[in-house]
Amino acid sequence: MNRPLTILAIFAHPDDEIGSGSTLAYYSDQGVRTVLICATRGEAATIFCDGCATPENLAQVRTRELECACAHIGIHELRWLDWPDGGIGSLPRGPAVAEIVRYVRELRPDVILTHPEHGLYPHPDHLALWEIVREAFSAVADPEEHPAAGPAWAPARLFTRALPQSIFEVAPGLKEFRVELNGQLLPFYATPDHEIDVIMRVEPWVERRMAAWACHRSQHNPKGFSATMPDGVRREMAANEHFLLAAARVPLPDGVSDDLLAGLDQSDAADDVEVAGPTALLRDELAWHRAFAEICERYGADQAEPRVAEVARRLFDAEQEIIHRLARGLRLIGESAGAVESDARLKAQGLQRQSPAEHLAFLRDQIAQAAARLRTWPAADAPVRDDSLIALIEAQRAQVVAVEQELQDAHPGPDARIG
Ligand SMILES: [Zn+2]
Repeated sequence: MNRPLTILAIFAHPDDEIGSGSTLAYYSDQGVRTVLICATRGEAATIFCDGCATPENLAQVRTRELECACAHIGIHELRWLDWPDGGIGSLPRGPAVAEIVRYVRELRPDVILTHPEHGLYPHPDHLALWEIVREAFSAVADPEEHPAAGPAWAPARLFTRALPQSIFEVAPGLKEFRVELNGQLLPFYATPDHEIDVIMRVEPWVERRMAAWACHRSQHNPKGFSATMPDGVRREMAANEHFLLAAARVPLPDGVSDDLLAGLDQSDAADDVEVAGPTALLRDELAWHRAFAEICERYGADQAEPRVAEVARRLFDAEQEIIHRLARGLRLIGESAGAVESDARLKAQGLQRQSPAEHLAFLRDQIAQAAARLRTWPAADAPVRDDSLIALIEAQRAQVVAVEQELQDAHPGPDARIG
């Protein structure tokens, strides 16, 4: 079974993905798996919308905004490092590189995309992340480096974003434009056109990039790039996205300059591993728990019934442990847990439930089914069959049942019947 090619974009802040938004949308439509790692939640930045965020909830607002942008672009998976906004350069370098190595080995991308050496504009986070990703790109393929970060994986290419000199010439405003950061005014850097390695001609995907940008409401600076650049320049930049090849294990084929994945095909990347019994079980279970955790998270934010929200938040915490163990089980049999997406059907079912009572009943029934499923797993599949996992799920179930009982005792009568 071939796995699809994967592009992993690693950027510092929510909205940094926009600069390659049309390209990612194009590849997503081509069936390429696209994953975004966003290093920070952008929590230290200026808020540019009236009342859409406060300094206290900015991280949450930007999280939602980036989720919205990913949905428009078609990014399949979004991962957060929760590194400090504005503080990437002060992180201890070794552990930061190790963390990227671990993600790359889990996600197994063919191509990685990140900030250029000069940052595009010299935001200290962009400059630091470039250094970290470049170091990680070298280290990932060497099993002796960061052995605790998973089995070695060799991505074929590392690309960085670029703005060609020619666009600065047709758009004088761009040359004058400055990004304001903590009182400093940072210029965009141009790259001579002949040094650009890949131009993605992605005009049909421009609207997807524009829609993604519209999600980042808290960043819509009236003096910012999008508000002040002529529409033609913005469209031109979205229709033709430029990249530099920063490092390569598989060079671009001669004469090809319009495809980041040129010359890489699925068979290069393929595991060619038949999905065996335990793998399929583990994958399905992981997909299920990822969806279930997302449902718990959503219920946990529900203000209507604090007791239910509280139990959902506790279930969410327990789910993290379950997901961790299932992912580890997959890794033990040489499979990537990163490729497993959350079960969309389950998630849809869970999110259709409206009232606190329905939420509780849904949680209770699903947990009971999960425990029953795990008990039927063949005992011979050692990494798969994990009785402590069943115990964990049973404990979750007991919590839900206790809350149901408590609510019923507090409000006896027909209306208080739960489920
Ligand atoms: Zn940024």
